Amino acid sequence: MDRKQFLSRSLQAGVGAFVAGPILASAASCNSPEESSAAPDAASSPTPPLVLAQVALPYAYNALEPSIDAQTMEIHYTKHHAGYVKNANAAIAAENITVANETELVASVGKYSTGLRNNVGGVWNHNFFWQVMGPGGKGRPEGKVLDAINASFGDFEKFQAAFTEAGMKRFGSGWAWLVEHEGKLTIGSTANQDNPLMDVSDFKGKPLLALDVWEHAYYLKYQNKRNEYVANWWNVVNWDEVAKRIG
Ligand code: MN
Repeated sequence: MDRKQFLSRSLQAGVGAFVAGPILASAASCNSPEESSAAPDAASSPTPPLVLAQVALPYAYNALEPSIDAQTMEIHYTKHHAGYVKNANAAIAAENITVANETELVASVGKYSTGLRNNVGGVWNHNFFWQVMGPGGKGRPEGKVLDAINASFGDFEKFQAAFTEAGMKRFGSGWAWLVEHEGKLTIGSTANQDNPLMDVSDFKGKPLLALDVWEHAYYLKYQNKRNEYVANWWNVVNWDEVAKRIG
């Protein structure tokens, strides 16, 4: 299979996955509150529905070359991530979610359907992922991030090896994470689109850094070589964004 065929097949597979499922089918046929409401009545109008947003990509699709190629970035952002946003919002509407905000929804996602959990996680995780990467990465942290890593893992090389291992050992699709939890930094991974803020996750903490190890994140450029993707990914980590999230 050449590159073009792969691209075509992965797009088809992605689109198929996004529109499948009874929840989404029924959501599509529901009237939105705007369509069904009559004259506005402040006393009886329902809480506006929660709508999740896709953050703007903070750099161009080709900005992370050569570590992450422009085509992968564009498909990842405009197809995969945008699909999670669309489907998460459809699931939120279909399941009559009444929580006030995204933070509460992520923290209570175990109360709802698997489809909602997967898509809400997909929205949150990618919004986070884009921000902790950037062009012109220095390769390693300094200042308070380096101090915290040294305190928790011994030195940067040990941290890097442990984080890489978390990404490499995640079987199938998922994420590797650096989190802050009870005053310490810890490393772990989650399956699918779960994250450490979810009630359903065994691994918990405040995310500081994330690595997407789904094949869609690297397959066009690296094929099966997840290890090469992870090795090159370190060059595009935005340590300044990690620093903003510590403490
Ligand atoms: Mn992804």
